[in-house]
Amino acid sequence: MENRDAEVVEKISVLKKRRNAVILAHNYQPGEVQDIADFVGDSLDLSQRAAETDAGVIVFCGVRFMAETASILCPEKVVLLPDVNAGCLMADMITAEQLRAKKKEHPQAVVVCYVNSPAEVKAESDICCTSANAIRVVESLDAQEILFVPDQYLGHYVSTRTGKKMILWPGFCPTHVRIKPERIKELKREYPQAKVVVHPECTPEVIALADEVLSTGGMCRYAQRDEVREMIVGTEVGIIHRLKKENPGKRFIPVSEQAICPDMKLITLEKVLRSLEEMGTEVKVPEEIRLRAKAAVDKMLKVGRK
Ligand code: SF4
Repeated sequence: MENRDAEVVEKISVLKKRRNAVILAHNYQPGEVQDIADFVGDSLDLSQRAAETDAGVIVFCGVRFMAETASILCPEKVVLLPDVNAGCLMADMITAEQLRAKKKEHPQAVVVCYVNSPAEVKAESDICCTSANAIRVVESLDAQEILFVPDQYLGHYVSTRTGKKMILWPGFCPTHVRIKPERIKELKREYPQAKVVVHPECTPEVIALADEVLSTGGMCRYAQRDEVREMIVGTEVGIIHRLKKENPGKRFIPVSEQAICPDMKLITLEKVLRSLEEMGTEVKVPEEIRLRAKAAVDKMLKVGRK
């Protein structure tokens, strides 16, 4: 670690105590940000941590919808997003107005909303899900018709696993579509012993080649199994940092070095420090939206992880 970074890390640690803050970081965050976090995880892990923490301030090292979810669950806490511009291109592919129009076309449908969505969209939904529990959430529904938003690929994967017919919103993650099946085939030839593990935001052609389809938290747990020595990893490259750190001696091969989420990489150590110094940028969901969104998130948390 460079001197400047060490200085910033020290200041973050002092200020964090003074502010009674907890730092949560997503698995796609830059390695140095993951290293200073109190907890690193996937969206489900992080929303559970946010709900449980005693800290008065949550510094959310991730993207806006994640900070919003923390604010939905903990309205009494100050939730800070170190870069106000850290959004999610998939979440931007749907608005509450568009969803309301779609619901009019399918008045009987139960709306399942991937957590990667704006708070206003969650407020229009019946239940939320993450990639860690989407199958379980859909299985828990006694519904003839399910409208799944906004990720068409996660929705498609869940429908193949549950056998439920679902209406899919045409959203997708621009980072995960950079993961190509041809590259996985090449890597499988190069590393015949390696397990192929991909995220369900990948395309069906990629998912068809995988040994396991897992959330990032699921990938971290899977990597710890004794029989896994080499892993071809089909998700955002930030996770490689954590996989290597937790599993020295094992080999992790990203399918694509270009699978980088630019929004996740907006967060830096300097911005985390500034966020604690200035107590900004605070993310707060308006109460009327929060209450309706919370009902969808609470239902999901009751279903739990898959
Ligand atoms: S990786 Fe994709 S889904 Fe995740 S935050 Fe980035 S754009 Fe959104």
